[in-house]
Amino acid sequence: MNPFHYVQAQEVDSSVDRVSRAPDASFLAGGTGLLDLMKLGVQTPAQLVDVRKLPLAKIEQLPDGGVRLGAMARNSEVAHHPLILERYPMLSQALLAGASGQIRNMATVGGNLLQRTRCPYFRDTATACNKREPGTGCSALEGINRGHAVLGGSEACIATHPSDMCVPLAALGATVRVKGPKGERSIPFADFHLLPGKTPQRESALEHGELVLSVDIPALPAARRSLYMKARDRASYAFALASVAAVLEVEGGRIRQARLALGGVATKPWRALEAEKQLSGQAPTPEVFLAAAKAALQGAQPREHNGFKVELAQRLIVRALARLGGQS
Ligand SMILES: Cc1cc2nc3c(=O)[nH]c(=O)nc-3n(C[C@H](O)[C@H](O)[C@H](O)COP(=O)(O)OP(=O)(O)OC[C@H]3O[C@@H](n4cnc5c(N)ncnc54)[C@H](O)[C@@H]3O)c2cc1C
Ligand code: SF4
Repeated sequence: MNPFHYVQAQEVDSSVDRVSRAPDASFLAGGTGLLDLMKLGVQTPAQLVDVRKLPLAKIEQLPDGGVRLGAMARNSEVAHHPLILERYPMLSQALLAGASGQIRNMATVGGNLLQRTRCPYFRDTATACNKREPGTGCSALEGINRGHAVLGGSEACIATHPSDMCVPLAALGATVRVKGPKGERSIPFADFHLLPGKTPQRESALEHGELVLSVDIPALPAARRSLYMKARDRASYAFALASVAAVLEVEGGRIRQARLALGGVATKPWRALEAEKQLSGQAPTPEVFLAAAKAALQGAQPREHNGFKVELAQRLIVRALARLGGQS
């Protein structure tokens, strides 16, 4: 591992100041993602500003009935918090479907948002990777791409965004509050993660030195009936091959409101807006669910080894909607 300078941050403003002034400085939260990448030589920050002790770990109700997740709240705290279990069960399910108990006890909300892809070429410094070293090429395009994205890819990168937590947050239309040298701003979740396009090295709307303060989830009473389903190679401790976060509100035999987002199949947490539109106002039947699932995967671009993800994701969507639609 490269040598680095370590600082324990005491307050938000000085941490933002310290990282924004030094191009080779990085925030450190739970360390479950960043330290692995440092050991592999994929990331080589010269300075780590440890933000774990900043007073940003609260999970609290917002005046509009929504919930604020402090950026330093641990994944396990969020998953087991009564407000989350009651109002957004799919968020709790998504978090508990990720990593292991030990990792969830360390990993934070901010770190989970900003975790890097698990593309094996990205993590192997002996291979070409546009995300790690812009302009070197993408080894996955013609290589082993079983785990890669079928939605949102480009000729420069087809890596998936690996987070489970981000999938329900996309469906819920959360907002990310951040603070940088120019002050605070709020970024809608849909704009927080970027598509790879020609610059896959740029993964989020954050400027260097901007610190995530919280993720604010709006009130959505319908989300009390919500579900997260994840398909993976092993029953636990594995990233999603495909996952779905779904909300379905049925009233008088018609779908009043639906929310759908996908994980494991796209280059960023993927809200399926077209599928949501298709469901709205329809009867909750298997045919309607299948049509919505097809709409969600419209435009998918499978590569040599990942074509199975299209049907896998469609089946997960149908199953999740059927489970939700079948409840009284
Ligand atoms: C073996 C293993 C299995 C895993 N399985 C899963 C899984 O199934 N599903 C899943 O979703 N995840 C999984 N993970 C990933 C895990 O969820 C992430 O490593 C974790 O969420 C990162 O959080 P952290 O607090 O440790 O972040 P860190 O590793 O400390 O930081 C990650 C990145 O975020 C930046 N950062 C952190 N906090 C902030 C902030 N407040 N503002 C700005 N930048 C910030 C850091 O600078 C760094 O670039 C797995 C990880 C491991 C090691
Ligand atoms: S898919 Fe993206 S992360 Fe993976 S090798 Fe290609 S450029 Fe790198």
